[in-house]
Amino acid sequence: MEMMNGLLINLLFILIFVLLTNMLLLHKNKFIQSSVWNYYFVFIACSQIVISLLLSVSVGHGFIYDLRFVPFLLGGLYGGKRVTIGLGLFLLAVRFVLGGDGFWLSLFLILISTIGIFVISPLYLKKSLWTKLSIVSAFSFVYAVIAYLMPGLLYGFNDFIAFIIYGIILVISTFFVTYLSEILRTTFVLQLEAMKFEKMEIVSHLAASISHEVRNPLTAVIGFLQLIGENEQTNEKSKTYAMYAIEEANRASGIINDYLTFAKPHLTEECLMNIDNAILKCNDILRPLTLKQNVEIETFFQHASAIKGDPHKFHQVLLNIFKNSIEAMPDGGILTIQTYENHNRIHIKITDTGHGMKPEHIARLGEPYFSLKGQKGTGLGMMVVYRIVESMKGIVTVTSEIDIGTSITLAFPIHDAKDSILR
Ligand code: ADP
Ligand code: MG
Repeated sequence: MEMMNGLLINLLFILIFVLLTNMLLLHKNKFIQSSVWNYYFVFIACSQIVISLLLSVSVGHGFIYDLRFVPFLLGGLYGGKRVTIGLGLFLLAVRFVLGGDGFWLSLFLILISTIGIFVISPLYLKKSLWTKLSIVSAFSFVYAVIAYLMPGLLYGFNDFIAFIIYGIILVISTFFVTYLSEILRTTFVLQLEAMKFEKMEIVSHLAASISHEVRNPLTAVIGFLQLIGENEQTNEKSKTYAMYAIEEANRASGIINDYLTFAKPHLTEECLMNIDNAILKCNDILRPLTLKQNVEIETFFQHASAIKGDPHKFHQVLLNIFKNSIEAMPDGGILTIQTYENHNRIHIKITDTGHGMKPEHIARLGEPYFSLKGQKGTGLGMMVVYRIVESMKGIVTVTSEIDIGTSITLAFPIHDAKDSILR
């Protein structure tokens, strides 16, 4: 009975910690830094281990029983290899301080569990909820058997009832703590998605209502400005002014086009595309910019197939990415564009040697109005990229290192061989 009480109080504390973590996480906004979050996660797991050890129930001969395995297992499975080793060492250190023969058993169990976690963890996070629950329950059952029966056999305290109580409570605790953590995690992820979706909705509505209203008058303005520029009676100075005005109006019309992509999320004109032509065309368009910033462009084409989509929009994707890369290299650098085929997809890898991005900025890439360029940026470029690539059933992967550079890979499904290319 004493063991049951002790373990149940232990479970209560673990659950309180899980809920507390969730409360703090949801309380803070979504821009919590991933690096800080990792330390926080380890701190919570360590606190749970300390509390479990303090609330442990002694069965004599220097052996104590508690639920320390629950935070260790979950911390390891969700936190990765480094966290597993860190928590294991921490657990052993605290257990060592408490003394007794149980330390050696702990050492043995932690070693076995660490190996188990290393084997399971690569697959674990991809499994469904019920598979996860079955895995952790089976894991903790095996742990309970070894943890209780081994010292029992060695020291002869075969209190079978206590073993049953320990086994059942450990398995049930692991099951419910995992279940609760998973539900809270899902809620959190859904909440973030909902927030992002809401923002997207607002942009869509704005796009639909404003862009159409602004585009028509703007087209008229550009037309008249061109007339002014071409008029023979206009003096040279005014012609230059008209040219500047046309340039700026075109820029404004470009931004409106970005917005229009949101008003019309479906691709309008789909056909098979030759991606090397598109890439080379973009390079030509950006030549003035690359010359000005001393950026060298290198291309390596290693693909044989074509992809499907709207060429104008695909063009826009490439231009937006190339432009960002060039803008990230104000003192010059190399922009490498590489294509290759892999797993039935064509990959376009765009690498720059620019100033790079922090992980929290990568996470926000594609969010409407996210820009680090102050007045100069619109924060729409990458949003358009994500939107168009998604509609072409493609995937965007971004890796970046501060002061080393950024690599953006687009992976599109392959469509037919090169012979059938239309454009
Ligand atoms: P904008 O270019 O108008 O700022 P984008 O959506 O195109 O908006 O890009 C958002 C932000 O992402 C940029 O302000 C920049 O800070 C960052 N970014 C995008 N691409 C790169 C890159 N290749 N290297 C470094 N930072 C980048
Ligand atoms: Mg941009």
